[in-house]
Amino acid sequence: MTPDHPLNRATSQSKGSRDTAEVDVLIIGAGPTGLTAAVEALRNGLTVRIVERQPERGMFSKALVVHARTMEVFALMGVDGDIRKAGTPFAALNLHFNNRKKRVHVDLLEQPWGDTAYPYWLSVPQHDTERVLENRLTGLGGVVEWSTALRSVEDRGSYVEATVIHDGTTEIVRAGWVIGCDGGRSTVREQSGIALKRAGAGATFLLADVKTTSDLIENEGHLFLAPEGLFILVPMPEPRRWRLIAQVSSSDDKMVTTVDSARLDELIYARAGITFGAHDVSWISQFNLSHGVAERFRSGRVFLAGDAAHIHSPVGGQGLNTGVQDAHNLMWRISESRRAAPERAERLLAGYQAERQGTAGAMVGGVARMTAIMTSPGLLARRLRSVVAPLIVSRGLVQAKLARGVGMLNLSYEKRRGLRGTPILSVGSRLPNPELGEGDRLYDRLPTTGYSWVVCDDSSTGSGSDVPDTDTLHEESPYWMGLPLVVVGSSAFHQHDGKPRRSTVILVRPDRYIAAVDSNPESLWPTPLLG
Ligand SMILES: Cc1cc2nc3c(=O)[nH]c(=O)nc-3n(C[C@H](O)[C@H](O)[C@H](O)COP(=O)(O)OP(=O)(O)OC[C@H]3O[C@@H](n4cnc5c(N)ncnc54)[C@H](O)[C@@H]3O)c2cc1C
Repeated sequence: MTPDHPLNRATSQSKGSRDTAEVDVLIIGAGPTGLTAAVEALRNGLTVRIVERQPERGMFSKALVVHARTMEVFALMGVDGDIRKAGTPFAALNLHFNNRKKRVHVDLLEQPWGDTAYPYWLSVPQHDTERVLENRLTGLGGVVEWSTALRSVEDRGSYVEATVIHDGTTEIVRAGWVIGCDGGRSTVREQSGIALKRAGAGATFLLADVKTTSDLIENEGHLFLAPEGLFILVPMPEPRRWRLIAQVSSSDDKMVTTVDSARLDELIYARAGITFGAHDVSWISQFNLSHGVAERFRSGRVFLAGDAAHIHSPVGGQGLNTGVQDAHNLMWRISESRRAAPERAERLLAGYQAERQGTAGAMVGGVARMTAIMTSPGLLARRLRSVVAPLIVSRGLVQAKLARGVGMLNLSYEKRRGLRGTPILSVGSRLPNPELGEGDRLYDRLPTTGYSWVVCDDSSTGSGSDVPDTDTLHEESPYWMGLPLVVVGSSAFHQHDGKPRRSTVILVRPDRYIAAVDSNPESLWPTPLLG
């Protein structure tokens, strides 16, 4: 705890007694979700405290893959450059079938990534992602309160009363909102009476981060659908270091305590046919797969985000990504709700669960189905793996899904879809991020917090370079509400389904999703920002 920190100044403390704190947001847990929430709270002008029961950041690599949509969120937060520096893009994925008799090589960098500045899967250990996020938090004047555990939360209607313990001292914190980013065994979830049913996936995995003496290509991943079980090799940014994930028999439940480099070598040779030369094992773990989604993501002034709200199979590599995106979605809503009329404020807050629970449900369900196909010993699953899967993943359209689909760039909060399932330029879709011909993209011209307008002007050249004087536009129409405004030629969206055929105005949310779209700002009146 750092009681003299500026953000904590409203806290009055005396050891072992009942105290109060006035803070907008209290975040429980300093994993990737909590750190994102804390950075976003500060960037959106809220006061924040973030408590973490551990004494320091864990050094386990855990989540290794950061996806394109998460990088777009990191860009809004101002950390995309540092995250990129800490990681290595995957160049390719090699899928091995039928005892390695058939291999499908998927060149990930050559897939049709479309309108993103981050056309790759980035391998970056979770502790590095957390380090970058914590540095950003510190740069904004925030601080993680280590060794501080939440014990209970009580929603008092106009605030939440949380009891936290630090060094045996109990403190009562009064916060406007409490965000439970406290992981799969969330105390906040339990205290709020929110159920999360875990379903076991019936598969046990051994995981190890280990160095190799082999000359495996450093930036290509491998997935082996072997008769003994699923086996995955993921390159890590440190030269010659790999993450291996091996399905093992559930009766091998103590394998983790006996396995050494020699045993890993045997396992890798048996599953992958690689003479690996395992050494310098930096992390080893064993887990049974399970998954589930909380029945609610909110109880009054208490919200859940990240693993506290949804538990994923690590095999899918989506847990951290979904948590970061949850936290970002929630914090701009809380910030906006403070300026909004009561009805709109409630709609904004309700929108968090409406959008993120469905997204998490689809993600968790999809990964669970894929995991079942890849791990089940049943005859049907075995046939799917040996006969159907190699045919399916050889198809270009399926491989393309490993780019935008897995990268979460097609994630839309509305049901209408364009050709091939791509989102269309309509409410609830991600605003496209086309190049504008001057070495920049549309997102580079938009603010990183708050709402803004994008005007597609079909009378302009389409280069996006002839941006009219926005002050003049604002004077012409009060309907712009003084928000930042960027004008592009309508051809900027030429590759997008549902591209505008005439002048179009788009009201853009703080997360670069489309809040409203029409032919002029007057026809959008009253905008969704009022009401
Ligand atoms: C082996 C493995 C591999 C994975 N690989 C991937 C991957 O490649 N890609 C991916 O996206 N995801 C992956 N994941 C999942 C990813 O690690 C999690 O989804 C991610 O850590 C969730 O972040 P979080 O911040 O929501 O929760 P956590 O990281 O679990 O953080 C929660 C924090 O809350 C703290 N806390 C808990 N209770 C309290 C309390 N009462 N008071 C105060 N603090 C508390 C905890 O100490 C912890 O620091 C993997 C997970 C594992 C285990």
